[in-house]
Amino acid sequence: GTKIIGLTGGIGSGKSTMANYFASLGVPVYIADEEAKKILYLPAVVAEVKGAFGEMVFTNGLPDKAKLAGVVFNNPEKLAVLNGIIHPKVKEHFLEWVKMHNSQNFVIKEAAILFESGSYKDCDKVILVTAPKDLRIKRVMQRDNVTEEQVLNRMANQWDEEKKVVLSDYIIHNIDREAAKNEAYKIFSELNNM
Ligand code: ATP
Repeated sequence: GTKIIGLTGGIGSGKSTMANYFASLGVPVYIADEEAKKILYLPAVVAEVKGAFGEMVFTNGLPDKAKLAGVVFNNPEKLAVLNGIIHPKVKEHFLEWVKMHNSQNFVIKEAAILFESGSYKDCDKVILVTAPKDLRIKRVMQRDNVTEEQVLNRMANQWDEEKKVVLSDYIIHNIDREAAKNEAYKIFSELNNM
């Protein structure tokens, strides 16, 4: 059947950049973070969020991402409740998407927290995009116009790269763009011959 290839990396590593590159080679790419955001507005999910968090996190009848983020920020218990609502729906949606691409040799699932969420266990192979921490910080500060402290805060919820390397099948070292693309192309070829 269709193989599921996870694509992940810490904030600013360049996983979106690499996902776009794989997509340009014709690989179907599922962007888990984007899909998860849409899932928040499904009627069944809206009802569950209201039940768990109340009107407080709503604006104009729909869950408000900023308000929800404020509530779960630095609150692991509430974050777990929110994830418990969202994650099963995300999983279901993803599996339907895979079915739609069942003529493909493989598809890619891009997710920032593939390891942290445990969903790497549902992948046949995992590709990790890495870059030195200082470089990742600089990239995100530029891209999002945020401070170093804000980037470090976001990184605090993610595993260290050393821990991810051990669990990965392929690694893309994304310092130089062209070199990284070459590494990605090699992986693409190997996956096609899998
Ligand atoms: P996040 O987890 O925050 O979404 P990401 O891992 O998806 O980050 P990208 O958005 O792909 O990372 O890359 C972060 C920023 O760094 C982007 O602005 C991107 O254009 C830039 N970038 C990516 N790769 C390189 C590179 N090799 N050289 C210079 N800039 C790069």
